[in-house]
Amino acid sequence: MTGRIGLLLSKLVWVGEKVVSPLQRSDGPNKFRLSSMDTATTTYEGDSGWAKRPPATVECERCGAEIFHHSAWDDIDCPRCVAEYEPESFGDLELLYMTCPVCRSRMTHGRRHPKRFDIPQWATCERCRYHWEFDHSYGG
Ligand SMILES: [Zn+2]
Ligand SMILES: [Zn+2]
Repeated sequence: MTGRIGLLLSKLVWVGEKVVSPLQRSDGPNKFRLSSMDTATTTYEGDSGWAKRPPATVECERCGAEIFHHSAWDDIDCPRCVAEYEPESFGDLELLYMTCPVCRSRMTHGRRHPKRFDIPQWATCERCRYHWEFDHSYGG
């Protein structure tokens, strides 16, 4: 009699374990997916070289309008007074800001050698951490 009850109890425990364990297992993949999403946000994009320069907004010398200059080798055309500048004269114009190509935020930019360069040498997006470098060989 007592032996039979013992067997029954152990069977119930076994069934209980079988019901619980699939639930625990389904927790696993969800947790894993979350952690892999976290690692994806810590990696950030970046480019180097003038050809891959982020879109820039410069000030028109003639009328002071903002000119959106998307790509480094495009002519710089003022939308207001129709002034045209060669791509090479980018450095002569006042750079107002650069636009992050990933999230469209205004970027922080600067020069490492202000005396030798009249164009920005780096730009960083504070929001998505996209970073552009004029020359990737600069270590700092
Ligand atoms: Zn203009
Ligand atoms: Zn960004």
